[in-house]
Parts: sequence; structure tokens; C-alpha cells
Amino acid sequence: MPAVTIETINTIPLRIPLDTWAPPPMFAGKPRTHVEMFLVRVKTSNGVVGWGECYGSSLPLLNAVFDAWVKHLAIGQDPTDKTLTARLERLLHGMGRAGSTLHAISGLDIALWDIRGKLEGVSVSKLLGGAKRKRVETYASLLQYNGVLEHVKRNTERALEQGYRHIKLHEKTAEAVAASRAVAGPDIPIMVDTNCAWLPGEANGPVAAMGASKPFWVEEPIWPPEDFESLAALRKATGVPLAMGENATGVLDFRKMVAAGATDFVQPSIVKIGGLTNLWQVATEAEKAGVTCVPHAFFFGPGYLATLHAIACKERDAPLERLFADVAFTAYSKTVPNVNGAVEVPEDRPGLGADPEDELISRFRI
Ligand SMILES: [Mg+2]
Repeated sequence: MPAVTIETINTIPLRIPLDTWAPPPMFAGKPRTHVEMFLVRVKTSNGVVGWGECYGSSLPLLNAVFDAWVKHLAIGQDPTDKTLTARLERLLHGMGRAGSTLHAISGLDIALWDIRGKLEGVSVSKLLGGAKRKRVETYASLLQYNGVLEHVKRNTERALEQGYRHIKLHEKTAEAVAASRAVAGPDIPIMVDTNCAWLPGEANGPVAAMGASKPFWVEEPIWPPEDFESLAALRKATGVPLAMGENATGVLDFRKMVAAGATDFVQPSIVKIGGLTNLWQVATEAEKAGVTCVPHAFFFGPGYLATLHAIACKERDAPLERLFADVAFTAYSKTVPNVNGAVEVPEDRPGLGADPEDELISRFRI
């Protein structure tokens, strides 16, 4: 029997209103008027509480995964056992190697890192070997404005006014990228997320056209996202830097995309890929192979903080993604604030460095 065990696991789904300063983009067939957030609260037998976060858009499915499998398998286990979530992944592989099963495990994994730090009285950065940088720049990840240039220009300007020095668009046209570039000037990195816009063979023209605006990267240009052979061919043909990985179905996918020469940047999503344990493995392996890890982080709970620690500690510096819209409640605005497009790494506080605010939970719990 371990000295400390996992005693309870509570799941807390939240729905937080969002103002995107433009008509809400469609997501999964519905207008995106809210951000969905799924918190995991894990308490140990000696009273330590850790917080994790799962991919919010899987919210309708996650309680089923926790109630049927994850709680049953994790309660009573040792929270300091670093192999626990890998064992869960293997045990539950028949229920899905990706998707909601792995999203649930991701939230548990992040909470366990928070607990391990709190048990030892050190930050997650210390557990990862120490922060290599004390401050991480953030990038403004604009919502999708469906090619409406007026929204692209106005919100590029708004991000620059707020102090951001990196912009990401969610657009599919060269005109939209050029409009943002005209506002930002030549020196601001502009990333373009196309969310798997084209089939193989359709992407060369539009991606090459975006190349004229010197994008820092074009993200997920091809459907399906695991067609690394077509992505490698596109990268070679256009010479435009590519980024991908938020829809990877596991650590092995990253090895395949790097080996294929498909990408310049890998983007594991901590709330989808199995938590900090797997994200750290991806970052370490990719950067050893010469490919920079710039994690996906279109969320702002414990998963965002865990991603911040990973970026602070990994070999190569990278900007941290920040959803750019007015959210009805900004988590950690006092404890880990984003100021002028940068955050200080909470490396001197135990665990993730901050817990989600009571107000966030009481106002937006569903
Ligand atoms: Mg993306």
C-alpha cells in the first residue's frame, strides 16, 4: 500500500460565454458562443488537491469515461507513480487510442503533476528539470472570421495594441493573410491555422499564395491530418513552413510526422494527447530531432499552466498560444497574468502555481 493514495476524483464541466468581436465562428455545426472547459479535481488521502483539464469540446462524453473507467482504475493508486496514466492508456486501448478516452486521461495526468509538485513543495517546472526561461511570450490566437477582411484587420490591430508580438489567424485565404500582414508590418510573426482545409493535391495553390505574406507557419493544411506523406510533399513543393499535431492520435504520430519530413513545428495538445507526460516526451524527442515544439493551447485552465511550464523547461523557446477574444472570466488573471503578450513562469510556487478560481467554478459550472 503506497503512503499516499488517490482518494477522490471530481469532474467539473464549465461553459463560459465568449465575445469574438465578430459573428461567432461555427464549430461542430454550432456557433461558438461559449468556451467549454472540463476541470478534473483530484484529492489524495493526505488532503492534497491537484487540478487537471481535459479537452473542453469533448465535454459531453468525458463524465462517461471518468465514471465507467478512469475513477475505478485510478482511485486507490499512488499519485506519484509516473507510469499510472501510461497503464490506463494501455488498459483502455480498446475504447479508443485517441478521442475522449485519451482526453480524460490527459486531465488526470495534469492533475497528478500538480499533486506531485505540491507533495514535494516544488513547481512543475522543477519536476521537469528546472525552467530555462522565466518569462514566456504569448501569441494572440484570433478566432475564425471566415475571410472577412475587416474583422481580420481590426482584430490584428487590437492584438498589437494589447502588446502581442505574435499573431495567429484561423483563415483559409491568401487575402486574409495579406490583410493581417499589411496591418502588422513586416516583422511580426503571423501564423495561419487552416484547420485541415484541403484534400491532398488541392493545398499547393492556396498555401503557395499565402507564402507571399511570409507566414511564420501554415498549420494543418491537409485533410486528413495524419497524411504525413502529402504534407511532406506540400512542404517541399511550396517551401512554406508547416505546423501540425493537435489532432495527432498519440506520441507515435509525432515520430512519424518528423521522420516523414512533414513539418517544421510540432503542436501536441496537452488536454488531448495524454497530458504533460506525453507532451513532454513529444517535445523532447522532436527537439532532439531538430523540430521545434510549439504546443497547441486553445484553452486556459490547468492545461494552459502545465503547457506554460513545459515551454519554460524545454530545450527551445516557443510562444504560448492564447485564445484571443473576450472571455466572461479570465482564469489566473491575478495569479499568472498575461501582460503585454507575455507571462511570468510561476516557478517558485508548488505544483502548477495556481488553482482555478472559486468564482470561475461557481459562476460557470453546468
Ligand atoms: Mg490549430
